[in-house]
Amino acid sequence: MTSQKVEYSPVIDILEDILGDPRMHNDYKGQMTFDCPVCSYEIKELDSGDGKGNLEVNYKLNVFKCWVCAESHGTHGSLYKLIRKHGTPKHLKKFTILRPDEDESVIKRIYRQVRLPKEFISFKDASMGLKLTPQFKQAWNYIKSRNITDEMINKFNIGFCYQGEYENRIIIPSYDVEGDLNYFIARSYLQNTRLKYKNPEAQKEIIIFNEKLIDWEQDLYIVEGAFDSIFLNNAVPMLGKFISDHLYFKIYDNAKKKITIILDPDAWNDAERLYHKLNCGKLMGRVYIVKLEGNKDIADLKGDLTGYQIKQID
Ligand SMILES: [Zn+2]
Repeated sequence: MTSQKVEYSPVIDILEDILGDPRMHNDYKGQMTFDCPVCSYEIKELDSGDGKGNLEVNYKLNVFKCWVCAESHGTHGSLYKLIRKHGTPKHLKKFTILRPDEDESVIKRIYRQVRLPKEFISFKDASMGLKLTPQFKQAWNYIKSRNITDEMINKFNIGFCYQGEYENRIIIPSYDVEGDLNYFIARSYLQNTRLKYKNPEAQKEIIIFNEKLIDWEQDLYIVEGAFDSIFLNNAVPMLGKFISDHLYFKIYDNAKKKITIILDPDAWNDAERLYHKLNCGKLMGRVYIVKLEGNKDIADLKGDLTGYQIKQID
């Protein structure tokens, strides 16, 4: 048996002293979630934490952010800022001894705004002239070979770049609840490519892909990739084989109906693990799973699950 040695950080003590018991702690990533003091005491005027755990802190990266009030109340930034505002002078002094050269550039990098490449062309807005070019036809043929319909193109504002940093890539943008771009995925449409995906630098674990389009009141699908998500009605991609804590809690707190997990056939064990992780508390009995056959992914099936069993497991 092997065991991973986790480095203990004395910053944890300071954080727990100020913010109370964490709701979640991933010591490998250095990530903790707490009830947000701004949401709880300033906004809701409660006497104790609101039990939501919306404040995410990363003591390895020295950053924090509240998923609810970051934009409205500026609840994001460096740990120094968090401790200065919510801790005592003693906390701050202890922290500055532990982290004397906290790097502000790290924070700027993480919170840098994502923008679509300037060469981005939305298929739905392409001019007649452009549609006649070989560049357009190449991208368009790829889209059609992947069974992507005009309806999907419009709904997801799918486009492409034929030049620039994202040359020869299909782009699927992601918009947050306010409709602001927060991410995009860029997949090559060339047969032989060194890099199938080339996505912008962003904190993937804090992004809910196209949250704008998710209706939490309806049946929800959980899939692996953005390309899978466009084929199902109301699907959220994990952008990988594992769910982020942020997405997990988002689903736990918001999903009101059936939740169906459909991962690629090679990820059945991951899918089962996710099933058990989700099927608890108030979600108990509402989680379902689909096992895809062979090497077919959701896009191959054109999102048609006819003949597949949507089941619950032990
Ligand atoms: Zn907050």
